[in-house]
Amino acid sequence: MTAPEQRYRVLCAASGADFHTCFYCGCVATELDFAPPRAHWQSFFVRQASADNLQVPSCKECHTLLKGCAMGLVEQRREWVHTKLAAKYAKPIAVYLKWTQEELAELDYGFAHSIGAGLRLGEESHRRSNYPGFRYEVDGAVVAASLVQPLPVMVFEQRFDDLKSALVAVSKQYQIKQAKLVEGLADHDNNLEAVVLAHQQQQQQALYRRQLRAACSAFAKQHQQSLRYVTNSVERYLDKDEELSIAEALDKLYQERVRHR
Ligand SMILES: [Zn+2]
Repeated sequence: MTAPEQRYRVLCAASGADFHTCFYCGCVATELDFAPPRAHWQSFFVRQASADNLQVPSCKECHTLLKGCAMGLVEQRREWVHTKLAAKYAKPIAVYLKWTQEELAELDYGFAHSIGAGLRLGEESHRRSNYPGFRYEVDGAVVAASLVQPLPVMVFEQRFDDLKSALVAVSKQYQIKQAKLVEGLADHDNNLEAVVLAHQQQQQQALYRRQLRAACSAFAKQHQQSLRYVTNSVERYLDKDEELSIAEALDKLYQERVRHR
């Protein structure tokens, strides 16, 4: 059997600042992760399956989280870790994304203190679960420099470096609470733009319903009809003809059903 050193090359940080850093999350590295795991090396080799065959510096937590991961590529292993980290720290990450510094400043001391602790853990967990890795060398040649670019968050053609800054800006710009945006992310596949659009649509529908109620109620009073009858009739007209405005539907109701009574 081949010795590990010959089967696995060493992933080595290209810059001194990244020495002893976990390639997966950016914490201090104390362990070595093997891509693929040593127990699976033979099977990857026999199947000629894609494997980086690298020793990767990793922290204790990432090393533990990777215990069940049999993947052979560093990128796949990183994604595995990020998913696990995001799930494990989902609560503090949500706290971090939801709360703004201004809101914190308004809380009383005890509550602000407990939220603040969650916020710091959330910020750290969010950063770790999005860590882009660093430039590294294998056998003296720099590889994978392109991996270092984290994906920007795009919202209506505005570009943000990370989700938190996007949330802060979008919340201000569109007058939607950060907490509401974060809750929407789960329903919209983490697409912030879709969350904003859905919110605007909801607002428009709510506004339309208020206008409909007000117009029907005024009509019912004026012509001494029951509000329920007026609302049902108008809704039926509107359902049949999408082009119709509320006023036109009311007029139609008047011409067809009210005037000759
Ligand atoms: Zn780590």
